[in-house]
Amino acid sequence: MFAGALLAVTIAFPKPGIQLPYVEKCYMSGAVGRGVTNIVVQGRNVSVYKTGGWVTMVDLNEGDNEIAIVAGSESTNYIVKVARKPKPSAAPQKKKEYKKLPYADDFPRALVAPDDPAGRIVVVDPGHGGPKDTGALSPHGFGEKDANLALSRSVRDQLVGLGYTVIMTRDGDKALELNDRPRAACTNKNVIAFISIHHNAPNYNVDPRKVRYASVYAWNEIGESLAGKISDRMGLALKGDIPNKGVMKANFAVTRNPEVASCLIEADFITTPEGEEAIWNSKRRKRIAKAIAEGLDNWYKGEWSDWRGSNPRPQH
Ligand SMILES: [Zn+2]
Repeated sequence: MFAGALLAVTIAFPKPGIQLPYVEKCYMSGAVGRGVTNIVVQGRNVSVYKTGGWVTMVDLNEGDNEIAIVAGSESTNYIVKVARKPKPSAAPQKKKEYKKLPYADDFPRALVAPDDPAGRIVVVDPGHGGPKDTGALSPHGFGEKDANLALSRSVRDQLVGLGYTVIMTRDGDKALELNDRPRAACTNKNVIAFISIHHNAPNYNVDPRKVRYASVYAWNEIGESLAGKISDRMGLALKGDIPNKGVMKANFAVTRNPEVASCLIEADFITTPEGEEAIWNSKRRKRIAKAIAEGLDNWYKGEWSDWRGSNPRPQH
């Protein structure tokens, strides 16, 4: 799961004295054990959707917004302050000059020993982890973190079978700082690719019971070339099962490294009952893992050599 639309924020209740920058919408969530049935925003009633917790999206105005969280006959009131909409500045924005970075002449990095599996490393990153970051929750309360780890382990096994060395950012239920995820890919000269594995949840304006598809996110050109190959193979493996939305652009901490081909895979939606059931089917998981590993292998054997010979500048 990742954050929703522009001009929206996510807040967990209760949290007194909330002051927000200028936003139009607010995605709110909390623990289901609090028995929340609905929310009243400026006198308007909004129902909540219950998954493992309750979630809803509310419209906000500039200034004070009176919000009541209703649980049965009890109601807790909050004022959510929203800053004024910033005026667009009239002065033309000065274009920032970027210094030429030292790695720009050696891009992408040359492998130490491209024919040796030890010199051909893939970092696999199971998204989320630890007691506080479960990721999205399934209808029965399974954390996305567990589904991500199961698929990541299967991807690792497939990649090892194809002759790659795999570094896992976590191989257990461990909390990781976001910036520690791509660190191994940044610092290890023999890493050719970084793949972060997730299971999706819908945006605020979509019925969470109705949406399922696979997608792959990348930011720069080298990431998109890897994501394209992985997405193609996943599309074949998922044909007649769930739709494949292909590659989309996203500037995430785990997709933006211009030196290492990086992408983030959302293999399915964990928030529908059907998605939850499918994700725990080990045969299907293995089929998806095989597709991801074969997609990466296709990319390495094909497009990687194109990238080795070129010298594109990182995108800003
Ligand atoms: Zn996620």
